[in-house]
Amino acid sequence: MSVDVQTALRSPRSYELARQALETMEANGVWPTVRNFELWVHYVAEKESPLAREIDRLLAAGEPITETLGEALAAQFLPEAKMNGDILEAGDVLSKELKTVTAAIETAQKSSEEYGQELAIATSRLDGDDVETVKAVVEDLTSATKKARTENAALEGQLADTTAELGRLRESLEQVRRDAMTDGLTNLANRKAFDERLDAACELADVDGKGVTLAIIDIDHFKGFNDAWGHQIGDQVLRYVSSVIGRMGATPRMAARYGGEEFAIIFPAENGRIARAVLEEIREEVSSRSLKRRSTNEDLGTITVSAGFAERIAGENAMSLVERADAALYASKHAGRNRTTAAQPVAAVAAA
Ligand code: GH3
Ligand code: MG
Ligand code: MG
Repeated sequence: MSVDVQTALRSPRSYELARQALETMEANGVWPTVRNFELWVHYVAEKESPLAREIDRLLAAGEPITETLGEALAAQFLPEAKMNGDILEAGDVLSKELKTVTAAIETAQKSSEEYGQELAIATSRLDGDDVETVKAVVEDLTSATKKARTENAALEGQLADTTAELGRLRESLEQVRRDAMTDGLTNLANRKAFDERLDAACELADVDGKGVTLAIIDIDHFKGFNDAWGHQIGDQVLRYVSSVIGRMGATPRMAARYGGEEFAIIFPAENGRIARAVLEEIREEVSSRSLKRRSTNEDLGTITVSAGFAERIAGENAMSLVERADAALYASKHAGRNRTTAAQPVAAVAAA
């Protein structure tokens, strides 16, 4: 999604946008799948966008916006919105459930209308007061009531099934969301999760005034280690280092795999003094451990890490903070590795 639509969907306008999108979809006979919905939210949110112009052109040409065409439009105009198959599937299950429930509700509505008519007829027949008529009316009403009760029970069953199905969907979407934010090798937060969290942490720091510190950690001479022992053992070492970093960067901090053998820790509301102590603990723990090959117990020697950290200065954006922490990491490398360096303040960087 482009930034504008992202923002619009988190604003008071969002419900209006969603409503407009659904109305436009219905008017054009487009199914309410997740993918289609996203497409049409973009359409109503940015009427002048290339996507909206292309849809207008297709509509003017009387072209039906089929599922396949929707896919193609999304792939062409919303490439960053390529969705996980599970999400698309969830959207399809959802629209199927909605159709079933809608049908069940229509049936129930019809039967309650019929029931209402039965009651009206019964009331008019009761104008006469002979016993036979009253008996007949009561019998008719009893059978109409039974019928309505059966149909209501069916509807309730249907709604219960749907509720259970939606619960399962919510769980699987939650899982998809977690997977999309997690690095598969190390189980730490991935780069995407890190970027989002750092932006949020910077925004929060401006509001609560409690600051935020960012650390970047990089394994020393890791290429050499891989060359000597192979990539698979390299991966095991990455997992080991990640476990130490993950433990020291546990919530409310955030530990992430920033890139190949680079990690980051966000320290919300914590200063450089605390960050330095944590980084030194990580560094000492990693370097003091003599690594063993799991299968053979062969000695792999030790590895070390270098770190840099920067305390955020009021108003500083995430990019600048990362740059300063990165420069501090570079200084650690330059000074001989296996050490922790604090970043220069912004003013010193600007003056340099
Ligand atoms: P420096 O001390 O300057 O950081 O040296 P370095 O060798 O660690 O740095 P460089 O950036 O040259 O190499 C990083 C290496 O990390 C390259 C690659 O072999 C290794 N690496 C990156 N990602 C992975 C991974 O997922 N698994 C494994 N096994 N190795 C990785
Ligand atoms: Mg390295
Ligand atoms: Mg590196």
